[in-house]
Amino acid sequence: MSTSLIFDIKRFAINDGPGIRVVIFFKGCNLRCAWCHNPESISAKSGKMYTQSKCIRCGSCVVACEYNAISLSADGIDIDPKRCIMCGKCCDSCPSLALEMSGKIMSVDEIIEIIENERVFFEQSGGGVTFSGGEPLLHSDILMKLLEESGKRGIHRVVDTAGNVSLEIILEVAKHTDLFLYDLKMMDSASHKKWTGSDNSLILMNLKELSKTGTPIIIRIPMIGGVNDTDENIEQTARFISELAGESKEVQLLPFHNIARHKYQKLGIKDKSEKLREPDKKALAAAVEKFRQYGIKAGIGG
Ligand code: SF4
Ligand code: SF4
Repeated sequence: MSTSLIFDIKRFAINDGPGIRVVIFFKGCNLRCAWCHNPESISAKSGKMYTQSKCIRCGSCVVACEYNAISLSADGIDIDPKRCIMCGKCCDSCPSLALEMSGKIMSVDEIIEIIENERVFFEQSGGGVTFSGGEPLLHSDILMKLLEESGKRGIHRVVDTAGNVSLEIILEVAKHTDLFLYDLKMMDSASHKKWTGSDNSLILMNLKELSKTGTPIIIRIPMIGGVNDTDENIEQTARFISELAGESKEVQLLPFHNIARHKYQKLGIKDKSEKLREPDKKALAAAVEKFRQYGIKAGIGG
């Protein structure tokens, strides 16, 4: 049976494609964007999230753990990562949801059942399913099955990707996708590597090739103050998009907001977005205007 690790399923989503959608979030990503607002999606393994402020020091998790990986501390608990095998029993035993598992193994059938349950909302709103992440294209086997099955059922399918995978996968997935939401961070390869951990050559090449297939694409640009909202980057991005194949080009600018700090704390991982800032309104307006000058439909938000 095909399964995959899913870290979240969002119903009634209105910013991830047309209409009302259900968004399936795959766990695991091969970029390390400093501004990531879903840090629980980065690791391809299950993880535990701990919220110290919710912990009542009841000791249930200590008792539940067969591997002696948890002990009570002065202000909550300590977890020994060397002993923990991520079985999740401590999370099941926690009465206050201070400990939660991030990531659930789900089968194609289970995911399709969830998608089907939303059908009435899709029909009323022109919505459908969006596969996001993490990076859904890292799960291409199960993603293809989900796309094919959703297609057979007449459900509109969106794939939200950063495009940092092989062209072969992108083109295969495109045959079963109604719309791509394609992330483009910045044009300078060295800056891209600095801020995301990977250069952008594959991402740009894949986008060029994908545009030739005729599959509708909305390009989404996270806007981070002082990182990629510069005139130079916006000009280069607009020129690149204007030269893609296809008549109509659309860009959505997604302003960075530092909303994920609590998630980094829960996961116990370093928050690289701490020092990043939101783009100012003038820079956003100038970017929208620049894209329009290049004949690209542009707006702020998803
Ligand atoms: S996930 Fe399992 S092994 Fe890890 S601390 Fe919790 S109960 Fe122990
Ligand atoms: S079970 Fe939950 S509330 Fe109780 S000590 Fe463990 S983390 Fe804290």
